[in-house]
Amino acid sequence: MNKKYVVVKIKIKKINKLLVKHFGIPYRPQRLPNPVDALIATILSQNTNDKNSYQAYNNLKNKYNSVKELADAPRSEIENVIRVAGLGRQKTASIKNFLTVLKRKNSRLNLNYIKKMSDNEILADLTSINGIGVKTASCVLLFSLDRNICPVDTHVHRTLNRIGLVKTKAPERTFEQIKSILPDGIAHQFHTNLIKLGREICKPAKPLCSVCPLLKECDFKSKNMDRVSQVRTNNFLLLDSI
Ligand code: SF4
Repeated sequence: MNKKYVVVKIKIKKINKLLVKHFGIPYRPQRLPNPVDALIATILSQNTNDKNSYQAYNNLKNKYNSVKELADAPRSEIENVIRVAGLGRQKTASIKNFLTVLKRKNSRLNLNYIKKMSDNEILADLTSINGIGVKTASCVLLFSLDRNICPVDTHVHRTLNRIGLVKTKAPERTFEQIKSILPDGIAHQFHTNLIKLGREICKPAKPLCSVCPLLKECDFKSKNMDRVSQVRTNNFLLLDSI
């Protein structure tokens, strides 16, 4: 590993420590969600908030008693069940396509076969399925399989670029860069606390830099130092709640 990567790795550790000091160690359920559930929940979460995707996920769970029932259900019915999460047709197509491919690979409709694979093999396997992108696949790796992988959503992409840990245009590039240098054992707390930072403090339009725990470490040139009287907290994370 070259010197530049070593420096970035040390900075990631420092940022992670500051985030843990500010937000704490994030909650994690004792029983991690099974990979099929995590994958479907992540599809539902695209372009909506965690509250709506959680509602849509629960609607699916209440309607269908098994993955097989869901796989056999008519598209129009699924669209209706997940309506609250938006993009019903597109999300139904992704779920249906995933379950069709899964059925071909494994008649038991589970993802147990990926557990023995390396991170890169799992990413390649899952993203080869239409409708499953890197973010969805990486969420399965982190939230179900407890791999040291940091999924990159819009919050993680924005905050990592502002802090200066990466300089990238697209979340997929951010993911690739962070994947190769993430220190061992920190993925869940780093990912979750960056999302909290992005939701509560490092907001897209007007970051609340005056109350940010990373102020001294951050490279962002357009810091907003307006005084802040109150920060709204949001602790709910879909994939640690299913
Ligand atoms: S100092 Fe400002 S721009 Fe930098 S991470 Fe904190 S809120 Fe974001």
